[in-house]
Amino acid sequence: MEIKKEKKGKNLFKKVGALSLACVFAVGVALTIAFSIPRGEEVSTENVITFGLPMNNAVVVKDYADDKLQFNESLNRWEIHLSVDLTSEDNLVLAACDGVVTSVDENSLEGYVVEIEHADGFVSVYSSLSENVKVAEGDVVSKGQQIGEASDSAANESATGGHLHFTLFKDGLEVDPNLYLDLQNK
Ligand SMILES: [Zn+2]
Repeated sequence: MEIKKEKKGKNLFKKVGALSLACVFAVGVALTIAFSIPRGEEVSTENVITFGLPMNNAVVVKDYADDKLQFNESLNRWEIHLSVDLTSEDNLVLAACDGVVTSVDENSLEGYVVEIEHADGFVSVYSSLSENVKVAEGDVVSKGQQIGEASDSAANESATGGHLHFTLFKDGLEVDPNLYLDLQNK
């Protein structure tokens, strides 16, 4: 009996020992896997879309504001301006981002108007352009590509002089271009 007991005890010890070894091994494997996963670089699930200025060295002549009225000298009235008015020395108007031209239009109030659709639900609209529009509907454009020239063709803002009336939409709503374009200190 004594011998049998001893044997049993030894077996139990062996079993516990083996189990402990297995646990240590398992934890080791888990840690090895955990630390082999690359760290430091968070992989974003969103595409990063970056905008450039729609004019070379653009100067803001009238800013975007959704919380205050701004005076429109051309229409002699106070109004909400959900766009930025820009000028530059060369008057060239550039695509703010890669995209597809979804419309080229003309009306007396806004002058020639180009609309470009981008990724991530962004649409940029360029108004008060001269008739010298460089793109047509369906054209694929790259960021920085010239699409037209700023002018005083928009009757509703003609008092501002030659300028680009730039509007940025995200998912169908106007957004502040200052949030996406580096218009500071320009
Ligand atoms: Zn404007």
